[in-house]
Amino acid sequence: MRLGLLVIAGTQDVGTFVPLEEHRSIRLGRGQLEQGIDLYLHCSAISRYHCEIWRDETGIWLRDLWSRNGTYVNGSQVPRNEPIQLQPCDQLRIGSVHLRLCWYGPPEPHWLTWNGQTLLALARDIHEQTRELLYELHYSQKVVYETRVAQRRRLFGILHDALQDAGCDDAELLHHLQTGCSFRGECSFVERLLDQDDLADLLARIGSRRTVSRVPGGLITSADRPR
Ligand SMILES: [Zn+2]
Repeated sequence: MRLGLLVIAGTQDVGTFVPLEEHRSIRLGRGQLEQGIDLYLHCSAISRYHCEIWRDETGIWLRDLWSRNGTYVNGSQVPRNEPIQLQPCDQLRIGSVHLRLCWYGPPEPHWLTWNGQTLLALARDIHEQTRELLYELHYSQKVVYETRVAQRRRLFGILHDALQDAGCDDAELLHHLQTGCSFRGECSFVERLLDQDDLADLLARIGSRRTVSRVPGGLITSADRPR
């Protein structure tokens, strides 16, 4: 699976997706494409050159380009003009625009059917755990919350092992699951698995791997569909 930047809220550009490729930086801002902007965003609170995101062999990085109103990662403002390392699933905000560093594309079909749909069952458990977690973040005691966090992390460990056994060799994805996806909301990889939920049920019913033409989350181009 691949990682990229998805516009999720706060602008008419919602749904725009830019894949993150090695050694190519993505510049976000209100400038024009010919001025070196890769992701143009409609919002008056965004600077002409607001921030840039790139990846290299050490990870994924973001730098605020001395923007007027700042750049926020998971709710906290980052220092200006200083590279900040990002993790998959992190959420960014610039002006009123919310973006997310997401896994995208459908999972491999054989991951979904592997070992009686084990991965789907785990994804549902993590989804449930995440909902409980968010509830307890607001209404419960710290110790209960931390127990939930530990449980969720354990489930990610199991998902990591299962995915590896199912034949996944994507080091970046496996590492993300092993570290337990530090994002407080839903993990975007878990979302991708759950997007496929009814597809997997359908496959199980008809007992075939025939391609079902469905575009999960409206994000996937035909080139991303399993071959
Ligand atoms: Zn995640």
